[in-house]
Amino acid sequence: MVGYSASGIGHNSITKTTLTKRLVILGAGESGTGTAILAKKQGWEVFVSDKSAIAKKYLDILTENGIDFEQEIHTPQYILNADEIVKSPGIPDKVEFIQQAKSKGIPIISEIEFAGRYTNATIISISGTNGKTTTTSLIYHVLKQAGFNVGLGGNIGKSFAWQVATENFDYYVLELSSFQLDGNYQFKSHISVLTNITPDHLDRYDYKLENYVASKFRLGLNQTQSDYFIYCSDDPITVQYLSDFAPNSQMLGFSYNKTPNSCAWTENGTIHIHTPKNKYTINMQEITLRGIHNAYNTMAAGIVSGLLDVRKESIRESLMSFENIEHRLEHVAKTNNVEYINDSKATNVNSAWYALESMEKPVIWIAGGVDKGNNYEELRPLVRDKVKFIICLGLDNRKIHQAFQSDVDMIINTMSAKEAVHVASRLATGGEVVLLSPACASFDLFDSYEDRGRQFKDAVKNL
Ligand code: ADP
Repeated sequence: MVGYSASGIGHNSITKTTLTKRLVILGAGESGTGTAILAKKQGWEVFVSDKSAIAKKYLDILTENGIDFEQEIHTPQYILNADEIVKSPGIPDKVEFIQQAKSKGIPIISEIEFAGRYTNATIISISGTNGKTTTTSLIYHVLKQAGFNVGLGGNIGKSFAWQVATENFDYYVLELSSFQLDGNYQFKSHISVLTNITPDHLDRYDYKLENYVASKFRLGLNQTQSDYFIYCSDDPITVQYLSDFAPNSQMLGFSYNKTPNSCAWTENGTIHIHTPKNKYTINMQEITLRGIHNAYNTMAAGIVSGLLDVRKESIRESLMSFENIEHRLEHVAKTNNVEYINDSKATNVNSAWYALESMEKPVIWIAGGVDKGNNYEELRPLVRDKVKFIICLGLDNRKIHQAFQSDVDMIINTMSAKEAVHVASRLATGGEVVLLSPACASFDLFDSYEDRGRQFKDAVKNL
């Protein structure tokens, strides 16, 4: 393997046009495989390396497309001869061969950065600690219903790179995690939405909040005055760091109550949207999503839709027809006049706070799992106000007992979704709600939050 030109980042003595450049892709999941297809189509020499066994679905795609790969190993000599590396967001920077690649000056980028080079579509990107998937899906739904030629990608569904290779969309709505943003350099979004920031994933950011915040603000990278950055002006961390990290674009804030600078706010059950282009209102009773957090998500989506000149009637109709995504405050069933809600995606304290806050009936709260350094203090007033019993669903529930023992009548430990639902059904009386909103990750007892949510739903359906 000789004769590759360098990447054009400054140290190449051979011109880029004379020789094929080598792209090494680390991680053969959805984004890595999509990148491989796009890179091949664009004339790169492509090599894919995955430290684990590659899923059959992706193996088949790589093989059918004649793309070289290795699995269950990373071989340094096949990787460190790259002109450029696309790294799966799951691989931390501190891994040794990533450090070696860096010290050799090999650019390491994200799938998003790579794919962004090969499309002229208008990009709308969404990031934040909570609410990304809901807001992204909502914006996509509004645009799609309004007849836009639009793709949905990033952390959702088919990879962005795959779609750039195989589709011809005019718009993309992308959910971006901070890990993806970390690998972006030239990438630009015309409209960026930052939903909120609370401490999360700090292990990847040297346990420094400002590093995580800086990563989130990369959403505004390369933006100019003709672009927009939408943020929640009620979010203390976003606001605290705004002057340090604000991009050069037009800043549009949304808030629950009206402030002098709000571009969206609520008043007497109505959401008001005032973008630089238009003004309109949405009746909150008419939209399908419930809770303050979803009012925020709807305001963000409403501003984006206004900026893209979607007709007001079309926006309203789409918000009325949007079906909430699985595992996010998902209504499961009503049995014996007790409602069961699956909010398994609430894997941190902040998202569980919004779930509890939105409950209008007495709650039997199923919580627990892998604690990510949770501080439960901010949940206590809500728990005292709304929760009758807590059912712990986790291996180690000591912190939950300590936090809430004086706030509720009873805290019970369970070890499976089935057991938790069974206990809940015994404790609940008519007019109450059983809420799975764990505030914790799921890996002690389940494969994933999806697995936890599905087991919960199955148990409810078998009551
Ligand atoms: P993400 O993709 O960022 O994880 P989701 O839209 O999947 O966000 O929602 C994850 C959890 O966070 C759900 O439990 C949901 O109820 C809660 N949530 C959704 N939107 C917000 C928001 N704007 N602020 C806080 N919590 C939210």
